[in-house]
Amino acid sequence: MPPLTITIGVLALQGGVVEHIALLNRASASYPSVTFHFLEVRTPEQLSLCDALIIPGGESTTMAIVARRLGLLEPLREFVKINNKPVWGTCAGLVMLAEEASATKQGGQELIGGLDVRVLRNKFGTQVQSFVADLNLDFLGEGEGPFRGVFIRAPVVEEVIDGNGRVKVLGTVKKPGEEEDIVAVRQGNVFGTSFHPELTGDVRVHAWWLGNVVEALGQGGEGKGLVMGKGKGDAGKVY
Ligand code: GLN
Repeated sequence: MPPLTITIGVLALQGGVVEHIALLNRASASYPSVTFHFLEVRTPEQLSLCDALIIPGGESTTMAIVARRLGLLEPLREFVKINNKPVWGTCAGLVMLAEEASATKQGGQELIGGLDVRVLRNKFGTQVQSFVADLNLDFLGEGEGPFRGVFIRAPVVEEVIDGNGRVKVLGTVKKPGEEEDIVAVRQGNVFGTSFHPELTGDVRVHAWWLGNVVEALGQGGEGKGLVMGKGKGDAGKVY
């Protein structure tokens, strides 16, 4: 059985690219039997080499304009919604992956879509209102302790617009005196977080996501269902 090789792209038009690649490199140590390649993606050709993709934080308005200019917007939509490849968007990346967004820039902004949610941009205000909150992310496993969520001009999911229960809420935050907000969601292979795990040095969300990527590709692609595990530790082993 040849070892599983997975190429993961990080959309590198703008925003926190190197931080994601640094954490992906560290997280990949949890899957010693998988060979990972991490690739900065700026062209449709580079995207076509990827088995999975991270869309980083930054500014979704800028990202959309640059993606359109580089001919990447349609290939990105195809990647997410037709080819159904695993994708994770952080912050501005979550905005890009939403089907709808409010508080968009005047005249609206283009989105990739894939998550049947409406996001509210800049929910917590401007850059100076950035904050850190301890989040209970159950999907990381029991007894793992809270995850330091870094929120920078962050969006939240203000409404799930899919009535079929396909959107799973994976994390919430509650600021004192405010309603609880949805800050992590998943719909099939599409995952989005309002916060920035790549800025924490905590590798757990990246390791969990890599485990999901390994599983998704194992079932549908090279590994043909032979990849075992639940996204932690040895989960990437190919038998
Ligand atoms: N407010 C930004 C946007 O809507 C996101 C900010 C971030 O990614 N840190 O694109």
